[in-house]
Amino acid sequence: MTFRVGITGGIGSGKTTVTKIFETLGIPIYYADDAAKRLMNEDASIKTQLVQYFGAATYKDGVLDRPCLSAQVFGDKEKLELLNSIVHPVTIADAATWMQQQTAPYAIKEAALIFESGMQKELDYIIGVYAPATLRIFRSMKREGSSKEKVLARMNQQMDEDIKMKLCDTVITNDEQQAVLPQVMVLHERLLALAK
Ligand code: ATP
Repeated sequence: MTFRVGITGGIGSGKTTVTKIFETLGIPIYYADDAAKRLMNEDASIKTQLVQYFGAATYKDGVLDRPCLSAQVFGDKEKLELLNSIVHPVTIADAATWMQQQTAPYAIKEAALIFESGMQKELDYIIGVYAPATLRIFRSMKREGSSKEKVLARMNQQMDEDIKMKLCDTVITNDEQQAVLPQVMVLHERLLALAK
């Protein structure tokens, strides 16, 4: 069985950027965000529940109306938790099946909410990607053309970054001071050894 690795970090930490380096090393990657988006359009139980709790307008001609759903959950903690409670279990099960199918020494699941969703039980090793809050805000504002307030609102919905990093088995620092590539290479060797 493949050694199951998770990569996590708060918004703008650079977890996708770091994960892509592992991808260039030939490591299979499961991008949880992309999978969740796909499953929201494909999985019958998610679709039924989203229509039940968020209304028929959630789907237009069978396709998820993302802005409509986002508008409903933005700034509403309870609704966001409800949405996550519908989507996360299906995504976790889908990732577990995907992991079972992998033949590489190790495979990676990239997800923002590993600890928040209880996904850590399905993983053998978790990597945290760390960047200081100021940098994370700056990166997210730049990428999304978003206001500082909107980025902060999303950050505040996530687990405290220091607590999250302490829960990880190791941390990659992506602060634009320390080089990322050597950190990934050292970790890659360690993961290959752990996978044996
Ligand atoms: P989110 O959860 O918000 O999707 P993320 O943790 O996956 O974020 P990325 O998408 O990898 O983060 O990075 C956020 C932005 O910051 C991207 O535009 C990316 O190009 C940029 N970025 C990440 N790391 C670095 C870096 N070391 N130097 C410069 N830009 C970076």
